[in-house]
Amino acid sequence: MTQSFSELNLAPALARAVADMGYETMTPIQAQAIPQVLTGRDVMGAAQTGTGKTAAFSLPLLQRLLKHENASTSPARHPVRALVLLPTRELADQVAEQVKLYAKHTQLRSTVVFGGIDMKPQTAELKKGVEVLVATPGRLLDHIEAKNCVLNQVEYVVLDEADRMLDIGFLPDLQRILSYLPKQRTTLLFSATFSPEIKRLANSYLQDPITVEVARSNATASTVEQHFYRVDDDDKRATLHRIVRERGIKQAFVFVNSKLGCARLARSLEREGLNTTALHGDKSQDERLKALDAFKQGNVDLLVCTDVAARGLDIKDVPAVFNFDIPFNAEDYVHRIGRTGRAGASGLAVSFVSGKDARLVGDLEKLLGKKLEIEALELEADRRPAGRFNDGQRAWERDESPREPREPRAARPQPAPRAPRAPADPFFDQPYEAKGSDAPPSWENAQRAAAAAPRGVSPNIKTRRKVAALFKASSPTEGG
Ligand code: AMP
Repeated sequence: MTQSFSELNLAPALARAVADMGYETMTPIQAQAIPQVLTGRDVMGAAQTGTGKTAAFSLPLLQRLLKHENASTSPARHPVRALVLLPTRELADQVAEQVKLYAKHTQLRSTVVFGGIDMKPQTAELKKGVEVLVATPGRLLDHIEAKNCVLNQVEYVVLDEADRMLDIGFLPDLQRILSYLPKQRTTLLFSATFSPEIKRLANSYLQDPITVEVARSNATASTVEQHFYRVDDDDKRATLHRIVRERGIKQAFVFVNSKLGCARLARSLEREGLNTTALHGDKSQDERLKALDAFKQGNVDLLVCTDVAARGLDIKDVPAVFNFDIPFNAEDYVHRIGRTGRAGASGLAVSFVSGKDARLVGDLEKLLGKKLEIEALELEADRRPAGRFNDGQRAWERDESPREPREPRAARPQPAPRAPRAPADPFFDQPYEAKGSDAPPSWENAQRAAAAAPRGVSPNIKTRRKVAALFKASSPTEGG
């Protein structure tokens, strides 16, 4: 199988762009998909984010569009030839950025349209004419209805992150959009998993597709060190704080299951001195792009996010991912931890399992095809972040924000007396070798403050309970 880009005979303009990006060898999905797309075959690709799938469809698609390349200023000479559909704004923006980079030495034009921002600048771009249009389904339909773009010359359609588009409920929108396109076209579908719904979608819209798969679907990368800790809901935040501090983690994604929980957790962590921002669907488009940019620039250490907001974001080398909540949808676990351990780098994925998560853990074990070892964890009084924990009230319960009234507190059981200290957990003794900047992360300030705080046993601090490892890990996971 072809491995080096030089064997592909890409047009010089594209080969130059690939060289500019610093790519030499193809990733497995690229090696499998690019030659197929170059022949005009429909492709159904099972690939997680981080596998290089954007280039896997963009490069051959651009190569095949080069015959239409022209320098005319007439919009009529630049009809939409390729349509790339994605589920979220951030993902659309990111893919469009990559397409622009791959096409930068050609005269092919590309643009992106997504909701949440003014349509006018998008309309102006569309009216100038573009060969490659990257879009989210809803906003694309708005533009179609406003007659801002005509899709009757589309030759290529890419349904990227197709499983997520179906999860979000975009199927009717997709069906409408596809009904506007010529029947004679090449259709590419990429999805992290091939669920029965995805197969149905492929059967309806792809013709004799070739399937390319780079990792067993639902596999997690072998470069990710995965831990599951038994943590009560009330102790999750302190545990998170402890782990980032003790492992010296410079940047991490923290996944939560709800938008409200996301905003609340980000605020609490920020107040504790962790440089945090939240990314969720209730934020304006501008706020979301700013949050993302700040994280990419390294100005933010923790990005607290929901699955929909974070799906597919190309942020490389995040040292750690926390599953503050076990995801409702087991497949999201694979996507979440795909944020770390990318491209061969090692990563850490820590998941907090609370008492109510038994069913979700069961789903996860089924999906991953192995039993999970749930480890016990003790919070030590002197290790908690400064000043927030020993009064029996959680920081978020103090939140007086008028928009998010606090829940009434449930009566707490009397705490058990503290057990003798158990031997140190080797997990926390092992040094973490962080990559990148040597600047101390923001939470080190909080750590210093914590060290200065008086010692004491909080009624909220659990004694170390040996929670038996439920199961032993059985099979190694595959890379992707
Ligand atoms: P994707 O899965 O398309 O989101 O790509 C993940 C990341 O891998 C992106 O930042 C790409 O720039 C990068 N990438 C894609 N193809 C290659 C390659 N052949 N060699 C090195 N990096 C690549």
